[in-house]
Amino acid sequence: MKNEKRKIINERKSGKHIYRIGRFMCFCGFLFSWAFHPLSVSAENDGFSGKRAFELLQRQCSFGPRVPGSPASAACANFIEHELKEIGLTVKRQNFRVYSQLMKSDVTGTNIIGLYSGDSPSTDLVALSAHWDSRPVADRDADAQLRFQPIIGANDGASGVAVLIEIARVISKRRYPGRIIFLFFDLEDAGLPGSLEQWCLGSTYFAEHSLHDYPITMGVNFDMIGDRNLRIQPEQMMMKHAPELTRDFWRSAQKSAPRYFIDEPLPYVIHDDHEPFLRRGIPYIDLIDFDYPEWHTQEDTPDACSPWSLEIVGKAAIDFVFHRMEKFKK
Ligand SMILES: [Zn+2]
Repeated sequence: MKNEKRKIINERKSGKHIYRIGRFMCFCGFLFSWAFHPLSVSAENDGFSGKRAFELLQRQCSFGPRVPGSPASAACANFIEHELKEIGLTVKRQNFRVYSQLMKSDVTGTNIIGLYSGDSPSTDLVALSAHWDSRPVADRDADAQLRFQPIIGANDGASGVAVLIEIARVISKRRYPGRIIFLFFDLEDAGLPGSLEQWCLGSTYFAEHSLHDYPITMGVNFDMIGDRNLRIQPEQMMMKHAPELTRDFWRSAQKSAPRYFIDEPLPYVIHDDHEPFLRRGIPYIDLIDFDYPEWHTQEDTPDACSPWSLEIVGKAAIDFVFHRMEKFKK
């Protein structure tokens, strides 16, 4: 993911150990918020476990950096596919070949597609997506020696995948009546630093080649939603191209988690996997907490993430798709 706010982040990174103290304070705040602001549980989202989602995040990280072409990437693809099949989804892989300027080689990317078909005859097809690759370089790391090594991507990659798999499990148990396509995009994060080139390659390939097979009516992308200090705001691209969906989602999410879904637009654009769909006129939003100092560093590890954040986002997303189904039926 790439955005147009790098300068602010550079400035933030200079106060790193202030941040460490801050992180401890945040953790205390997180315990406090859990005790005094319990998340509303609905009939639909009951059963979504942040703890289980966090285990899925840790499992992905245990493979190592999921850089396309690596053994860790192959192992993680098998893991995601296995989890989706266990839940009962129909799973397909979509391979594509590109020249990666960052890796200076041809690489094969693999999108993983899981289809959940409910009983409803409705033609509505909701997409829920995340990227499953991790960045081949840590170009924002404070230590120059570490900048050419790949990252583990606990938040930037694994968090979205973890929430998606746990959502799929809960939705299939609750017998959600509609159809949902779960999309796991590869090669989101091998873009060139300081440029808009070569980001989001998996989602771009999918949007170019597969929309006739999967006529998606709307979508929600999940990226970097495991941050301990969660705060999600709408970015400008989706505000402009999917205003109704953005408004509906935030209205729904604010009912269950108003402290975490802030209805205050970010003043900038974030380029992420929702963009190729927006370009084709499909309403698609991106749930992302970009305020994450570990972004594209070797510190993007599970200890910077929280099961609670995964639970907040997962439950809000489940409520939203059920609520939308009700609306669609009327
Ligand atoms: Zn990234």
